[in-house]
Amino acid sequence: MRSQRRIPSVVQTLTESFVVTAALILVISVSLQTNAAAEGNLRRGGSDFQSRNGDISITSDFPGGRMNQCTQISNDTFAMTIAPESDPINDSAWYAFRVQSQREQTIRILLHYVGGSHRYEPKISRDGETWQSATELISSASNSGQDVELRVPVDSKPLWIAGQELLSTDEISQWSNQLTKLPHVDKKRIGRSVQGRAVEQLTITESEKPDYVFLIARQHPPEVTGAIGMVHFVDALASESEIAQQFRKRFAALVVPTVNPDGVHHGHWRCNANGIDLNRDWSHFTQPETRAVREQLLECRRAGHDRLCLFVDFHSTYDDVFYIPPQNARVFPAGFTRQWFASIQDRFPGYNVAVDDNHNAHRSTSKAWVDRTLGVTAVTYEFGDETDRETIKTVATGAAEEMMRLLLALPQKNTNLTQQPRKPAKPQPLNPEIRLVSGVSDGEEAILR
Ligand SMILES: [Zn+2]
Repeated sequence: MRSQRRIPSVVQTLTESFVVTAALILVISVSLQTNAAAEGNLRRGGSDFQSRNGDISITSDFPGGRMNQCTQISNDTFAMTIAPESDPINDSAWYAFRVQSQREQTIRILLHYVGGSHRYEPKISRDGETWQSATELISSASNSGQDVELRVPVDSKPLWIAGQELLSTDEISQWSNQLTKLPHVDKKRIGRSVQGRAVEQLTITESEKPDYVFLIARQHPPEVTGAIGMVHFVDALASESEIAQQFRKRFAALVVPTVNPDGVHHGHWRCNANGIDLNRDWSHFTQPETRAVREQLLECRRAGHDRLCLFVDFHSTYDDVFYIPPQNARVFPAGFTRQWFASIQDRFPGYNVAVDDNHNAHRSTSKAWVDRTLGVTAVTYEFGDETDRETIKTVATGAAEEMMRLLLALPQKNTNLTQQPRKPAKPQPLNPEIRLVSGVSDGEEAILR
């Protein structure tokens, strides 16, 4: 069911002509370093291109677009430079552009990545809304992954090509607006981004004095599969299922679906409009987006009698994996993650529930801050870049239902259970089916330079 495709599987032998054109692109990319149009101090991702005879147009001038430069090499060959908003940066080389041709033909697009390498397999759309995987467009790739050749059939109908589905802030807002038609879902603005875009939060509950779970997504703009997972997870919490109705009578889910709306809008690889990686800003809170979310998290605690039980931050990396802080007996509720992951594994025996309990432990991530500062169970929930979208839906929905079931089994707060340090729970053996990984170097971890 899963469709994991990493770059080595698509790397093919370089053709001689490709080497020549790759060299040309390198020259172009060097000039890009000095000519990049700036968004503040950041490199913009939107640009327009027209072929010499005017029959082919390529643009990335739309929300989420990223194509930094395009140059015509021959009648049917175009060299395209893809560069991040700033350097150095995590290697999450996002690209998104739209091609149109006055006549039916197949063109060659030579992608050259500056400051990164090919990570996302191409997805295509004819309407900008429905997408399909299009790995077959890749005809060759360099061993470094910095150069990739696409052979693209084009015609008069627009063709979007992007690293993942374009899941814009507007689309996420439309989804959340639909949810607010339900009587138990509200939405409010909790702050504004650097460039003034709304940072929104959903509240899903039917309780007057709920316990809380807090969910966030899209700190990192290209991590679309994490956002897709979040959507299905939240849909399960808002649904009319028996378990969701019980859950909402006792709990509230607070959800910030897009923490980094500026980065999503500008097609950034990683950062917000100030060039800051928001998931490394959870110590000093220098950015308005992280401050807005922190304020809401603290608000959950201020009422005193209310309990924050779980924090989940949705991301994407090469494979599906849960990142959790090193096991901490002080964290509330004790042993929750192990029970949760074991129950997800039991529910999907053919699926690998992978857990890394020492990931980014010392970085200024949301998970580490919630764990250390609030003493609450915190999880980074990563979906694989190329995980089959139906699998994401199935697993995210199941994970949400297992979370609700386990949280409902917690003692009610009027039983005087506190979040103060208690006798540590006896460590439970990990379900042998769960794959424990450690020292994973991936999109979340690696800063190249
Ligand atoms: Zn991430």
